[in-house]
Amino acid sequence: MDFSWSEEQAAFRKEVIRFAKQELNDDVAKRDREEEFPVEFWKKCGAFGILGLPVPQEYGGGGADTLTTVCALEALGYGCKDNGFLFSLNAHMWTSELPLMAFGTEEQKRRYLPKLASGEWIGLHCMTEPMSGSDAYSMRSRAERKGDRYVINGSKTFITNTTHGDLFVVFANVDPSKGANGVTGFLVEKGTPGLVLGKKLHKMGLRTSPMSEVALVDCEVPAENILGKEGSGQAIFTHSMEWERTCILASHLGMMQRLIETCVKYARERQQFGQPIGKYSAIANMIADMEVRLETGRLLIYKAAWLKSQGRHALREAAIAKLFVSEATVQTCLDAIQIHGGYGYMAEYEMERDLRDAVSGKIYSGTSEIQRVIIAGFQGL
Ligand SMILES: Cc1cc2nc3c(=O)[nH]c(=O)nc-3n(C[C@H](O)[C@H](O)[C@H](O)COP(=O)(O)OP(=O)(O)OC[C@H]3O[C@@H](n4cnc5c(N)ncnc54)[C@H](O)[C@@H]3O)c2cc1C
Repeated sequence: MDFSWSEEQAAFRKEVIRFAKQELNDDVAKRDREEEFPVEFWKKCGAFGILGLPVPQEYGGGGADTLTTVCALEALGYGCKDNGFLFSLNAHMWTSELPLMAFGTEEQKRRYLPKLASGEWIGLHCMTEPMSGSDAYSMRSRAERKGDRYVINGSKTFITNTTHGDLFVVFANVDPSKGANGVTGFLVEKGTPGLVLGKKLHKMGLRTSPMSEVALVDCEVPAENILGKEGSGQAIFTHSMEWERTCILASHLGMMQRLIETCVKYARERQQFGQPIGKYSAIANMIADMEVRLETGRLLIYKAAWLKSQGRHALREAAIAKLFVSEATVQTCLDAIQIHGGYGYMAEYEMERDLRDAVSGKIYSGTSEIQRVIIAGFQGL
């Protein structure tokens, strides 16, 4: 076992932190208040090469291995304070680029991956519906084959990246009598008649990441826009979720590191009862626990990423990493606010925004309860 980054990875990590600090932090508080997605940051990330990191070079990507991608995402989370933007970036990578790479035809890959990798296009996926969240495959959306086309009808909710999205990976059932085995993925381009953006949704956190409802009203797509084949939606979604749960919270590791550094500095400077508050074990212990959570989270995410880089399954490990790091981040945000006392509670100190952003980690990509169901399932429960 080797727990160190290679020289190239360490240099890349530094470069990503520099880029993120310099280019991705303008007006975060204002954009959070106004729920504004930073299009210009997206373009910068495209030019820097972040958006296509896991995409093979032959399709315009960076061809990075999983651990290098995780290393870059962690560095982004450390340098960039806009967690909403990073969430949008992760949704794009893990739920549009990755399924295309694994299930797309050569023609689909050539058509879409270069645009997604360069940042010219934004990707997203539409699975959740008003009546089906955790029980995703009980969806009501239907797709019917008519000659050389599919006609999709249904409604989706809680969909990320919609208002700025170009390529929608839409799931619908082609044969409800087969249950989950009828669920199928389709590639639907923005502007396709019948693809209708619904109500914009206003969130507690991640407010710079756009979200809305999506309706599919007799939405016709050419038959060649099927992703995989009829009935392979379950395999596509499981594949996306395994990757997403492995990597999406790498940026939270960076966020936790940033919060720890802020807390240590404050604990050294802030004096009460004639000495720095860091001298009180109540405060020092909170910081020690933050460190334990960060280091444990790193080990879990790196292990899941390593398994993926070996081409191995990591369903269980990804669920453990996702569960632990999402909950660890919420606790770390709460502790950071506590250490800063009244100041921590003030918007100016920016930790309340991190907390609001972090809470969603326990819900998206499968709730904490569902991760526990998966983990217990490996014990036959
Ligand atoms: C910020 C954010 C971004 C999102 N982006 C997208 C997106 O881009 N595309 C998309 O398709 N979806 C997206 N979602 C939706 C997300 O995947 C769902 O919210 C999530 O899967 C939970 O579904 P639900 O909200 O319907 O809750 P429900 O499934 O109704 O769950 C309600 C409660 O019941 C619990 N529960 C449900 N089933 C079980 C069980 N078997 N055992 C124990 N407890 C259970 C849940 O854990 C939860 O506490 C996003 C959500 C959020 C918050």
